[in-house]
Order: sequence, then C-alpha cells, then structure tokens
Amino acid sequence: MNGEYTLEAFMERIRQKNPGEPIFHQAVAEVAESIIPFIRQHPKYQEECIFERMTEPDRIISFRVAWEDDQGNIQLNRGYRVQFNNSIGPYKGGLRFHPSVNTDILKFLGFEQTFKNSLTTLPMGAAKGGSDFDPKGKSDREVMRFCKSFMSELSHYIGHFTDIPAGDIGVGAREISYMFGEYKRLSHEFTGVLTGKSLEFGGSLIRKEATGYGCAYFMEDMLKEHGAAIEGKSCVVSGSGNVALYCAEKLIRLGGKVMTLSDSSGFIHVPGSIDEAMLEEIIELKSVRRGRLSELADRKGCSYYAGMKPWGVPCELAFPCATENEITKSDAALLAGNGCKAVAEGANMPTTAEAIEVLKRSGILVAPGKASNAGGVAVSGLEMTQNSIRMAWGTEELDVKLRTIMNRIHTQCVEYGKTDGYIDYVKGANIAGFIKVADAMLAYGIV
Ligand code: NAP
Repeated sequence: MNGEYTLEAFMERIRQKNPGEPIFHQAVAEVAESIIPFIRQHPKYQEECIFERMTEPDRIISFRVAWEDDQGNIQLNRGYRVQFNNSIGPYKGGLRFHPSVNTDILKFLGFEQTFKNSLTTLPMGAAKGGSDFDPKGKSDREVMRFCKSFMSELSHYIGHFTDIPAGDIGVGAREISYMFGEYKRLSHEFTGVLTGKSLEFGGSLIRKEATGYGCAYFMEDMLKEHGAAIEGKSCVVSGSGNVALYCAEKLIRLGGKVMTLSDSSGFIHVPGSIDEAMLEEIIELKSVRRGRLSELADRKGCSYYAGMKPWGVPCELAFPCATENEITKSDAALLAGNGCKAVAEGANMPTTAEAIEVLKRSGILVAPGKASNAGGVAVSGLEMTQNSIRMAWGTEELDVKLRTIMNRIHTQCVEYGKTDGYIDYVKGANIAGFIKVADAMLAYGIV
C-alpha cells in the first residue's frame, strides 16, 4: 500500500476505506498501536502489505431473514456472516443475536477473532456473524422459527471444513440446537458444523464454562507472574451471561470474593461474596428462566443498583464480562482510585482506548479479551477435534487442555509484552497473534 507508515496515516486510510464504522476503527486502532512499531522493525510485513490485508475481511455476507411470529405476523430481520481470515484454519467465530448487530460490530468482532484464534495455538481462522434479531421476550417457538429461517440461508456459506459458527450474545444452547437441527436437515449430513452443541449430539464438556473459566485462569497466571494469587482477593464482575457466570464460578472456587454481577438493567452487590449456592440460583434465573437480576435482589435482599455499572465498587480485581465499551475513562479512574490491581476482559473490547490508557498509567495489569477470553473458542476448537475423531473427552482431560492453552497464551503475551517493569499484555497479545497469521499470509503470496 502506498503512503506513510505511521499510526496516524494508517488509521486515516482505515477510516476512509470503512466510513461510518467507529467500533471497527477502534478495534483496528488498538491493534495498530502495537503492530505498526513492530512492523517497522520487520519490513517484510510492510513490503507485502500484510497488516492492511488483515484489516479487510475475506468476504461479508448479508441476507434477509423472514419469519412468522406467534400472532401470524411476518417479521423481518437481517442476517450476516463476516468471514474475516482463513489463513491458519477454517473460519471460526460466534453468532450474535442482538438489536445492535450491524456490519460495524461484526467487522470489529471478526477482526479481534483473527488474533484471538491465532493465540490459542489451534488451527482456526476467524469469522463472526449474527442478526439484529432480539431473542428477549420471544417465545421458544418464535426463536425456533427465526433460527430455522436464519440457518436456511447461512447454510450455503458454512461447513465443517469451511466455517464453523458458535454462540455469542443472545445465542446459547437453545439457539445452537435449533440451528444445528436445521443444518442437519438441509445438508443430509451429521457433521460438527456448529460448536457449543448439546452433549447428546456432539457437544463438548466444559464448552459452556470455558470462556469464563479461561478468563479466571488467565488472571491466575497474570497474578502468579507478579507473585500474587486470586485467593482472598475482592472481585467485581459485570454481566450475568455465559461468560460472567462461569468466570464468577471459577473465581469463587479459586478463593476469590465475587461481590457483583450485572445485566443490562443494573447490578447486584453482595459485600462479602456471592457463594456457590447463590450463584447456582443466579445461573438458573438467567440461563433457564431468562429473568432479571432485580428479581433476585428482591428475594435475597442484596443491594441492587438500577441502571448502574459495578465499577465504583472498590475491588482488587475487575472482570468486564458483559459487552463492548462498558469500562469508560471515568470508570477506569474509579477502579484506579479504589486500588484495583488487575483487569481481565471476559467480553470483547469492554474497555475503551482512553480507559486502557488510564489503567496502564496507574500500573494496573490489563488482559485484553483476545487473550483472556480465548478459552471459549479454544474449547470450541477441541469440540471440532472430538467431532472429527468421533470421540468425546472427559471433563478433567478437557479442563487440563484448557488450562494449558490459557497458560500458553499468557506465556506468548509475556514474551512480546514485557517492557521495563511492566507487562503490556495488550501489546503482547497483538504481536503474538499477528505473527502466526502474518507468516501464513506471507507464505501464500498475494491473495
Ligand atoms: P450472554 O450470555 O448473552 O450475556 C451477556 C450479558 O451481558 C448479559 O448479562 C446481558 O444482560 C449483558 N449485556 C448485554 N448487552 C449489554 C449492554 N449493552 N449493557 C449492559 N449489559 C449488557 O453473552 P456472553 O456469551 O456471556 O457474551 C458476553 C461477552 O463476552 C460479549 O462481548 C461476547 O462477545 C464475549 N465473548 C463470549 C464468548 C462465549 O463463549 N460466549 C467467548 C468470547 C467472548 P441482559 O441479561 O440484560 O441481556
């Protein structure tokens, strides 16, 4: 690519080429800040325009999803699959069902996935997809009709050797089951085309726990590197979905004191710690009954703060596990002011660029989502392996594999992120994730 090779010039080209996509710009800028200086020291990547090519998805597919609601009205949504990069393996990444889903969000998530999947050390390319469909408040039958209609079109673009979607916000076991059933019917095949499946038809043990457990494991490794441990530490967790609940479960088992959980309406605060029995109730409330945390607060008598985020609660460790940009600059200042020591992102890009700056300046360790939430896609990769060899591994074996993978990711981050007296995990994850994909792209020539 012609032009100056500075961060500012690079980002200007990205903004011009991708107008109206601020979240994607934010994701690219966060990576570019580490990669541009690295590339300047390794001109082979610049000569072959590798990083520019990595910012352009292989293809973006968008399609109409028409379905009928319980009243017989026709409803219309838009479905997407952004196949970002398959240099190191078939496309792999989740499906998100949420009203905010658009090309901007999916390009950001697909781009992040490229680095994350590379860091897992497993052979997986990157994609992301979903729809602006909102499963909240819909009946099971409505969700089923939507999922079948969505899959009737998506099925043309995926396959167990081409693109293997999984869940994300709004897509859990129920949605994956409806979509898998439809794919199986349309293709006349039983293959591991989706991950996050139920155990009865090819799912993997600990997949549902893997992202949250992995995030806690990553924090364990960060603290160990600095001569500390999770035991006895006060933890603030946001979200109460798949990632947050199992992150909280593992933290409690490792001796951490989990004081908060949140949903999009507010957060609960339990000053000592949520215990395993209470967490089980919350898992039932959020995952089975699809209820609100406010209901639990009424029943259990814990504090509930409507419309607020939990970052003002003093803590030593923070785990943003809900959604993007949930820790802003002022939230980061609150965390720093209250003595927080480390942040591990369970969600994708939950911390804004300005907030990361504040955290780093305060000496707080920051594990970026592409490293600390990679446990989910890693166990998805292990689900693919189990489907291919037609075997199912046991819980303990899988947990050891997940633990090893998280540890390997941590080691790579330290290798590339060590600076004087501080480990910049953001930089380490970006560079380590980049190298593997970049070298594969170099080997393929100009494509
Ligand atoms: P989920 O099960 O749908 O849960 C999402 C949680 O975040 C819910 O508690 C939801 O509250 C809350 N939330 C959603 N949008 C919000 C908003 N705008 N403001 C405040 N809270 C909001 O999703 P998930 O699978 O846990 O995913 C959470 C994050 O982790 C996402 O960034 C996702 O991309 C990332 N991630 C997930 C996985 C995975 O394996 N699932 C893997 C890697 C990364 P309500 O209950 O009110 O909706």
